[in-house]
Amino acid sequence: MKITKIRAAAIAVPMKKPFRVAYGTTTTARNIIVYAHGENGLIGIGGTAGPEKVTGESLESILYVINEILAPALLGSDSTDMEKISATMDKIIIKNTAAKAAVDMALYDLSAKSAGLPLYKFLGGYKDELETDYTLGIDEPEIMAKEALELKARGFKTLKVKVGEDPCKDVERIKKIREEVGYDIKIRLDANQGWKPKEAIRTIKAMEEYDIELVEQPVPYWDIDGLAKVTKSVDVPVMADESCHTPQDTIILIKREAADLINIKLSKCGGIFKALQIAHIAESAGMECMVGCMVETRASILPAVHLACGVKNITRADLDSAMYLKGDPVIGGAVVNNAVFHLGHEPGTGVVKIAIDDFLPGGGHS
Ligand SMILES: [Mg+2]
Repeated sequence: MKITKIRAAAIAVPMKKPFRVAYGTTTTARNIIVYAHGENGLIGIGGTAGPEKVTGESLESILYVINEILAPALLGSDSTDMEKISATMDKIIIKNTAAKAAVDMALYDLSAKSAGLPLYKFLGGYKDELETDYTLGIDEPEIMAKEALELKARGFKTLKVKVGEDPCKDVERIKKIREEVGYDIKIRLDANQGWKPKEAIRTIKAMEEYDIELVEQPVPYWDIDGLAKVTKSVDVPVMADESCHTPQDTIILIKREAADLINIKLSKCGGIFKALQIAHIAESAGMECMVGCMVETRASILPAVHLACGVKNITRADLDSAMYLKGDPVIGGAVVNNAVFHLGHEPGTGVVKIAIDDFLPGGGHS
């Protein structure tokens, strides 16, 4: 579908409670929404967070890159020509993957809506349901254990627990959570680069008795040797997150046997087009993928849900962040019901509109 207009706008959605991970605390979801207009009058919708600590992009830089650099270059293109559009975006500006991802999502949504197909069908149509985990931010062990029990009662079958602050206390956190929830629920960990390699090996081994499904990004993103050392030293599968942004990163991790699993995030890799490449490279090497998120609204969560449902090799999902938000600016599309997104027959992602005026940055939403 011929693209007639692309525009990006910022929104701010307050969170139910502050969310703490190893590198900082978030209290408001500051997001970008992208609208891609087709000449048939349909509008594709995408979005992203301002993931400064992961991609180096701020909300302001993303707005500038989309509205002033990417949009003018893509006007008049056909939204289904994603091979060409992805190449164009990479040619005119290096990196800036969150900005590119938001545009890519809006264009995939526009193309699927124009084809009259749900996006997951457009992308391969492997499944129509997706279970997500729910993430526990870092807190005192007793508080995390209590929250874990509440989440189990709400129907979540997998908990993702943030660790990586203090190794001894991290072991205490997992022990307390496991004691509270029992062994009929999966626990995956995310250290968000918080440990050094030997510290990671020691800590993960100390946690093994609590039946850990996997551990994400135990060491700093740049330390591929350290990541490989951890992967080879522990029985718990290791997942690369901040160390894996691009398809090229995926190849490096495979060659160096540095991880067992890959966490794909659209804002890290540049969108659905690149995410498909990562999933297929990983599949060819026998590695499964998870799809994850930043603190984002359903405008950018749902494209990831559809991606995971379109692709066989995305076997896990951590797409819970819209549930942390006080209010939902996104109208239409699937919501989580008993830990599962059920996708229907609506074209594209199913999102019809964003109630953007209610969530303007600095606005009066409470
Ligand atoms: Mg992670």
